[in-house]
Amino acid sequence: MAQVFKFGGASVKDADGVKNLVKIIQLHQDKELLIVISAMGKTTNALEKLNQAHIQQSEDTQSLFAEVKQAHYQIIQELFKNLNHPIYHEIENTFVEIDWILEEEAHPDPDFNYDQIVSVGELLSTKIVAAYLNECGITTKWLDARSYIQTDNTYREGKVNWEKTKELIQESIPTILKDQVALTQGFIGGTSENFTTTLGREGSDYTAAIFANCLQAESVTIWKDVPGVLNADPKLFPDTEKYEQLSYAEAIEMTFYGATVIHPKTIKPLQNEGIPLLVKPFLDPSAAGTIISADALTENLKPAIIVKKEQLLVSISSKDFSFITEDHLSEIFSAFAGCQIKINMMQVSALSFSVCMDQNERRFHQLTEQLVSNFKIKYNDGLELITIRHFTPELVAELSKGRRIFMEQLSRNTAQIALK
Ligand code: ASP
Repeated sequence: MAQVFKFGGASVKDADGVKNLVKIIQLHQDKELLIVISAMGKTTNALEKLNQAHIQQSEDTQSLFAEVKQAHYQIIQELFKNLNHPIYHEIENTFVEIDWILEEEAHPDPDFNYDQIVSVGELLSTKIVAAYLNECGITTKWLDARSYIQTDNTYREGKVNWEKTKELIQESIPTILKDQVALTQGFIGGTSENFTTTLGREGSDYTAAIFANCLQAESVTIWKDVPGVLNADPKLFPDTEKYEQLSYAEAIEMTFYGATVIHPKTIKPLQNEGIPLLVKPFLDPSAAGTIISADALTENLKPAIIVKKEQLLVSISSKDFSFITEDHLSEIFSAFAGCQIKINMMQVSALSFSVCMDQNERRFHQLTEQLVSNFKIKYNDGLELITIRHFTPELVAELSKGRRIFMEQLSRNTAQIALK
């Protein structure tokens, strides 16, 4: 049975990261392995800027592109001392794909333009890592994820055609895995017209889960720069603790409320096939990490604290002092759905409906336009939304101490507080 490994940008941010990845693969060489890799370090952010510059025909387009090239050449020069190694040529050719895009005017659909440019980050990283694995004597086959992960043409948020994807993966990958390591890109897919799509930021975890589901893999391991799934972001809280195990349901709840350790879409394809997900530290590969599975113990979980910044609290009320009825709510919800706004917390009172959402000027403007004829809309910006799973009253008090609370909600397992 195959195992799927996913390495994120932080794990391959430099030559040492790539060498460390090789060590991890060497430890698991007796297994059938499919490896999914993200773009190196902060490449995706850099390519996002390049795409923006191209769309705006900005003067710094070429210098932004040069920075991306420079970062990758530096890594290959450290990994491949022989300057005649074919990887140099291959990487140059991959950059030419961006050259061609930049030579033309930007595509009228900015999301289409985005996917064609930003996807190159994953093509570069996987070409480099596959070549280096082969150089180290680990026979590795580079696969183009766009030929397997089939999506519709919702650029930047490709919706997976599961049937087609499953057929393509099952057709050829099991044979490859028998005698080679297979290595492919996270985050990217292809349409039936052979255009490139992306699956949403941080989507490589989801890619790993798709491949695992279609291969009915034994497990997925996400290699991270943290010891496992922690109960809070270590950048915000000094004393975090690691979970030894979590249920699929708990993991999905945590990602729903904004925990960024795993992409929210990752769990479902794994749960559906009963495939365990391991989250492990790439700097200590033999450590246990966290295991997410169906039969995890769910009692006495440590409280998990999830902080979402840049929140907008929107209050929607009727214009004529009438109650907020189910009819109003149905109109309001359909406006939220139409503007693709995710509701992070909500509350209804007699005269108003309040919602906490991510700050996004464009979407909020759209929403206001749709609702303004029938409703009064007020808002507060710059809020933080703190969610505590398995809260204690003491912890709620501690986290809100000295701050102004705008909205608060407690259920059996979850406390949410919007505050400043
Ligand atoms: N490279 C993409 C991103 O940074 C996808 C990923 O890393 O999962 O969002």
